[in-house]
Amino acid sequence: MLSERVTNKIAAGEVVERPASVLKELIENAIDAKATSIDVEIVEGGRRLLSVTDDGTGMNQEDTLLSIQRYATSKISDVDDIERIATMGFRGEALAAISSVSRFRIVSRNADSDSATEVVVSGGKIQSVENVGAPVGTNIEVRNMFFNVPARRKFMRTARTEFSHIRQRFLVYSIAYPEIGFTLRSDESLVYSLTAGDSMMGRIEEIYGESVASALKDVDYDENGIRVSGFAALPRVARADRSDQYIFVNGRPATAPVLAYAIKEGYHTLLPSGRHPVLFLFVRTDPQMVDVNVHPTKREVRFRNSHSIRDAVISSLKGALSNLGGAPTINAQQHSDRIDAQGFKRTESLQIEDIPQAPVFRYPRMPMFEDRREQIPEKTPENEAEDADIDLDDGGQPWSECRVLGVAGGMFVVLETEDGMVLMDPHAAHERVMYEKFMAEALKGTVRSQGLLYPESIDMSPENADLIRKNEANLQNMGFGISSFGGDSFIVDAIPSCLGGVSVENVIEQLAKALERGGQRASMEHGLQERIAMAACKAAVKAGRPLTLEEIERLVVELAQSKMPYTCPHGRPTIIFMGWRELQRKFGRIA
Ligand code: ADP
Ligand code: MG
Repeated sequence: MLSERVTNKIAAGEVVERPASVLKELIENAIDAKATSIDVEIVEGGRRLLSVTDDGTGMNQEDTLLSIQRYATSKISDVDDIERIATMGFRGEALAAISSVSRFRIVSRNADSDSATEVVVSGGKIQSVENVGAPVGTNIEVRNMFFNVPARRKFMRTARTEFSHIRQRFLVYSIAYPEIGFTLRSDESLVYSLTAGDSMMGRIEEIYGESVASALKDVDYDENGIRVSGFAALPRVARADRSDQYIFVNGRPATAPVLAYAIKEGYHTLLPSGRHPVLFLFVRTDPQMVDVNVHPTKREVRFRNSHSIRDAVISSLKGALSNLGGAPTINAQQHSDRIDAQGFKRTESLQIEDIPQAPVFRYPRMPMFEDRREQIPEKTPENEAEDADIDLDDGGQPWSECRVLGVAGGMFVVLETEDGMVLMDPHAAHERVMYEKFMAEALKGTVRSQGLLYPESIDMSPENADLIRKNEANLQNMGFGISSFGGDSFIVDAIPSCLGGVSVENVIEQLAKALERGGQRASMEHGLQERIAMAACKAAVKAGRPLTLEEIERLVVELAQSKMPYTCPHGRPTIIFMGWRELQRKFGRIA
């Protein structure tokens, strides 16, 4: 029994909110008891029955009886232990609370006992204690939740809604513990049967299928005592809400405002607003740095080192999502006649005589195209020999060949590459490339500025003039030679050279707009610089003149070398990729 000192220290609270919160407590107990398999069964979304069976250590008769008493726990015994919690539960109030608002039955047996103890409780009153036959482990059945608390009963939603909450809780734990086998049965049908395995990726694929699994990038960061690991999905599998974000702090499912913020920053410019990445993120830090005692049922935690946590999560995501593999140098363009589509039989490739073909050039292959399963060509006698030297399993070839086929819809560049067909939005691509160059210079404080042949004077609205004046120094640091010229007029005599031949008036107008929006990002370290760079690049690209073939080819190479090639700084895609395998499948050439 915990001493009063400890019980006072632990914030009291309601543990039982709805069937899913009961499931959470029972699964956590099973995990704490070192179960290797956990079977969950529910009827009517858990309202009628919620049963959890584990093959963990189990309990003897004395402990089974103790377990349903308030503040009885085997997990801590002293107030100091709270600071070093390694198990999920520690309050010793879950079973007491659950059994007081349901018809409750626990059957438990440990390895030292010949038989199991069955305790039946109804609304908190023990009905019977018996010895029964059962394997080592624990089974808890919770029937008719809130049968004696009508006010609470009314708050339960439809079986469907409760089921979806249960499913979500179930998945959280099954992802965090791939070494434990899990099953979920609902109204007698088997919903999930997840075999114990040794990899989280395997578990994720079991649950989400290959489409999500193949979009995941490893997250791996370990510095200054903070480890961030797991998987972050490429933007192409983004969701409309956060329900496919799994975050764990020191092994327990958790949320914290600082984590949500860091995730947003980590994906900054990769996703349009309102889209949320699929994520499996594990944050580990010294337990003494985490306050898990904020609220008994909420998953929210507080970090004492929250700045470091934020920076670690941002770095870990940027690392996972950026275009890794160093910065390859641009190869001399190496022209050959045509690209042989992977997997096509030679005799089947099609050539139309009259269409002029642009030359083939080499560009650094982007990681998105390393979707290996898509690309590994089928081995046919015809292509076996040449495939032999393509080793995509080894991280993929760093270079691919590419050829501009033309322009579609007057707007999109059509490219043929070794890996598939690509549609590119040259504006978005150009914005990305320009933005990264600009930001790289800005962060180093070495923005190159280009003097204008004819300085331009610009008249602004009073509000815009005010914003520009306030940020004059910042703008100058970023390469804009801008100075007040009395009233609301300004003289611009230089602009950052990376912007090229841009309409000065347009850029300054955009800058004022961006400065006005201010808001959250302004408080960030480089928020202002980012906003300035984004606005300027947007204006510069808008003013762009038609691109030549050489410029498009250079753009492809530069895009492939950029850190975040798949989207423009505002989160719109730069390229849409269709692998050869995917096309062959769509045309019914392969199953
Ligand atoms: P807590 O988990 O906070 O200690 P609970 O009320 O959830 O409190 O459980 C009380 C105690 O009952 C636990 O400390 C543990 O010793 C025991 N217990 C509960 N569930 C199980 C289980 N599935 N297997 C073995 N022991 C259990
Ligand atoms: Mg518990």
